[in-house]
Amino acid sequence: MFAMLEYRGVNTKESVARAFSIANAPPSDELEFLISLIHGRFTSKLDTAKVGDVYYVSAPYGQFKFDINSGSKFLFLAGGTGLAPFMSMLRLIERNGQKIDCAMLYSVRYPDEIIDKEELDRMSQRLGVKTSVTVTRPADGDGWSGEKGHVDSSMILRHVPDVKERTSYICGPPAFVKALKDALVSLGVSPNAVHAEMWG
Ligand SMILES: Cc1cc2nc3c(=O)[nH]c(=O)nc-3n(C[C@H](O)[C@H](O)[C@H](O)COP(=O)(O)OP(=O)(O)OC[C@H]3O[C@@H](n4cnc5c(N)ncnc54)[C@H](O)[C@@H]3O)c2cc1C
Repeated sequence: MFAMLEYRGVNTKESVARAFSIANAPPSDELEFLISLIHGRFTSKLDTAKVGDVYYVSAPYGQFKFDINSGSKFLFLAGGTGLAPFMSMLRLIERNGQKIDCAMLYSVRYPDEIIDKEELDRMSQRLGVKTSVTVTRPADGDGWSGEKGHVDSSMILRHVPDVKERTSYICGPPAFVKALKDALVSLGVSPNAVHAEMWG
């Protein structure tokens, strides 16, 4: 699910609202977001946000809900801050003490963009989720020795050979979601077994 966050200027008529996926698990008195500061209209407000600023929140919205009964095996594909709904889902599964057969591919541009790494590793281990991270812009000296490059059909098949048996959930920027929907269909996955949240 996502929330709408709105900035309203104090002495101006300026108003700008954007959608952000909720990263913590319901029920909670708090909302947690993973926001990529891209210096656009809304995120540039957050760049300079300070304690005491007021942002208006309305929530929850959306159809990107995880149903543990929608399949027996799952694949989560996260692009950048598209990790947010999956953090929410995994936290809920962990809290409910449920068991899940799930693989996750998480794509970031740089190793230092990996979000919540310790919690992700801990939950993956505890729940038995096979999580693989790929870095799309590796650089000499960044210390990254793991998977490199964009997620594509061959990377999916290498990490998740039984992909055709899985219900897939994708979240991230439009180009990521579109490319991965196409990749899954090219691997023989039924479009009905693919759920996606696209940011754009
Ligand atoms: C359902 C949903 C859930 C979402 N969840 C999240 C989330 O969890 N985390 C998250 O980070 N985002 C999320 N988004 C995206 C988010 O809503 C915003 O679109 C995003 O934060 C950018 O907003 P903005 O106002 O800062 O950028 P905008 O001003 O709207 O700019 C949009 C585009 O223009 C480009 N751009 C803007 N300014 C410049 C500039 N000066 N020079 C060059 N290019 C520029 C940006 O790179 C961007 O591609 C979600 C979107 C949807 C629809």
